[in-house]
Amino acid sequence: MIEIDNVSKWYGSFQVLTDCSTTIQQGEVVVVCGPSGSGKSTLIKTVNALEPIQQGDIRVAGQSITAKGTNLPQLRAKVGMVFQNFELFPHLSVTENLTLAQTNVLGRNPTDATARGLKMLDRVGLLAHKDKFPGQLSGGQQQRVAIARALSMDPIAMLFDEPTSALDPEMVGEVLDVMVQLAQEGMTMMCVTHEMGFARKVSHRVIFMDAGRIVEDCPKDDFFGRPDARSPRAREFLSKIL
Ligand code: ADP
Ligand code: MG
Repeated sequence: MIEIDNVSKWYGSFQVLTDCSTTIQQGEVVVVCGPSGSGKSTLIKTVNALEPIQQGDIRVAGQSITAKGTNLPQLRAKVGMVFQNFELFPHLSVTENLTLAQTNVLGRNPTDATARGLKMLDRVGLLAHKDKFPGQLSGGQQQRVAIARALSMDPIAMLFDEPTSALDPEMVGEVLDVMVQLAQEGMTMMCVTHEMGFARKVSHRVIFMDAGRIVEDCPKDDFFGRPDARSPRAREFLSKIL
């Protein structure tokens, strides 16, 4: 579903990603972790071409993001993205947030877009808040709206970049619950997160990044269960967060 093939990227003269390769199969849940500044956000943003790459290639459902003629807005519409800071439009109601990209990018008519958006809002347990503005919701609720908005686009995969790290602790659970449910329903997911409970519960694989490289990419059970299977950097990192 998502093929990351020898990707390198530079910000000016600074190499932020070095030869990153991994493949995420349909229905697979992959957790990406690693120290701050290791390139996790950059890697996940390259998948839907929010950040350009200078070497290598990425294919989403077989379609290369670097090939000439690839329609990037269309490709981005296929891959839902959820950010640390929600990124809802503050001046639009919840319903308008849910329908905007459906009508503008997918060309859905407003009736269908609203029906789809409200169905996803109901799925994250927030239907009663459809007419509110983001500022009237808690952080956890805003993040659930952001997930509903991404799901409204009928994505073939979902990317999460530390979706719970800006939340007060008491709101982390409600967002993780939605993510767990999505994972259990078979959504293809790439999640940057340090929520190791989530990783243990639903991930299939864990990727550990350090200094722009993928230094571990292994089945969850090996990552958590076999300390000897991990690199010293990953061991040190895990010992700090677990
Ligand atoms: P992580 O998400 O793992 O914390 P990032 O992908 O955000 O890491 O950043 C990796 C490195 O790239 C960091 O050293 C960061 O300072 C640098 N970086 C991130 N974005 C930019 C940018 N737009 N321009 C220059 N350097 C950047
Ligand atoms: Mg980051």
